[in-house]
Amino acid sequence: MASRRQIWVGGVPIGGGAPVAVQSMTKTETADYEATMSQIRAVADAGGDLVRVAVPREKDVDALRRIVVESPIPVIADIHFNHTLALKAIDAGAHCIRLNPGNIGGPDKVAEVVERATRARTPMRIGVNSGSLPKHLHELERENPVEALVAAAVEFVELMERLEFEDFKVSIKSTSVPNTIASNRLLSERIDYPLHLGITEAGTKWSGSLKSAVGLGTLLADGVGDTVRISLSTFHAEEEVKVAWEILKALKLRERGPVLIACPTCGRLQFDMDTVVADVERRLESYEEPIEVAVLGCAVNGIGEASHADFGITGAKNEGLIFAEGKPLRKVPQERLVDELFVEIDRSLERGRTEADADQVREGADWLRRIEDENAGELTPERIAAMEAAAAVASDGDESEAVTSALAAEGRDDGEDEPVRLDEAISPTAGRRFTRA
Ligand code: SF4
Repeated sequence: MASRRQIWVGGVPIGGGAPVAVQSMTKTETADYEATMSQIRAVADAGGDLVRVAVPREKDVDALRRIVVESPIPVIADIHFNHTLALKAIDAGAHCIRLNPGNIGGPDKVAEVVERATRARTPMRIGVNSGSLPKHLHELERENPVEALVAAAVEFVELMERLEFEDFKVSIKSTSVPNTIASNRLLSERIDYPLHLGITEAGTKWSGSLKSAVGLGTLLADGVGDTVRISLSTFHAEEEVKVAWEILKALKLRERGPVLIACPTCGRLQFDMDTVVADVERRLESYEEPIEVAVLGCAVNGIGEASHADFGITGAKNEGLIFAEGKPLRKVPQERLVDELFVEIDRSLERGRTEADADQVREGADWLRRIEDENAGELTPERIAAMEAAAAVASDGDESEAVTSALAAEGRDDGEDEPVRLDEAISPTAGRRFTRA
């Protein structure tokens, strides 16, 4: 269930229906003002809404005082074990304080921080980590780690409420993806405060991104989670922001910059797709417009499933085609394909519309039709997908007839094979496989 309450961290709303906020954490020593500010700017440029900085020493508070003034995005001070630093971070003007009430020295010290935060109107993020649950929950943790995480979080929420403080968000973090999913689902049913999502120590850019996409993506698809941080073992905090955005864009929760579509390639591939896609992706990084750009490895299927893309390219051995909104624009030599694609993108963005030369369009369309005709009998991944989709749509009616017509449309016989069926009822996001038994 989505959170009902909303808090504000600086000028960023969290929860209560606000867009899911993207945050990252600097990897620099906060006391190193220049290095920290440079990383904060990189995070902001990549689309970070919020940034967290570690404040483990007095000298970090000194830098924090300047950082909160200069930072282009709100700054959250990350405090552990030392409530005095939390008080000083609030006085330094931090836009939010993150602390674990279980490791700050007892309820009295939590109360002191809360009292100061209330006076300064500083929101807090309170959280529990799977590695640091209070002692009285250790036995429960062994029996049921999910219940133990949720119990710890609820206890902290109740402590805050006893202190008459409600300006906070809550996080439960675990290195286990299933436990992260299950505990946040459960917590979202028990409290209505905004939730911060993350997978602790997720790993390298590759494995950490995947774990985060699975864990956070599952929760976000269910409407659980109001702000996210992707924890990656890289010095480049902005990489975490980029991954977070890809997850949010994939779920259509937020829109930012271009979306790249690329075919998975197969034996029909006609050019060096790896290089071309990497080049297109790199060049698209400098665009802010939410354009969709497709790269197809061959023209055998025509423009096919990429017909909804704003721009695209599809290649053959010596030549390729640039297309826009499902229609051919012009044919270009293979080696100019990417450069000319960006010429068209820039021109279109500048003019606010895509213009085409009628002769070039005709020439491109003829070229495409010729390649499609020459390969009409090919059972490409896209054609198989189209046949499966037709079968699924027709599943209420006479399925075999629908498959026969889909195959006939592709110029093929269906033989004896059973059609592939899609079953939405068992989709991963609809499932509840990780909740408690
Ligand atoms: S048939 Fe499809 S997957 Fe294979 S190269 Fe062509 S567009 Fe890519």
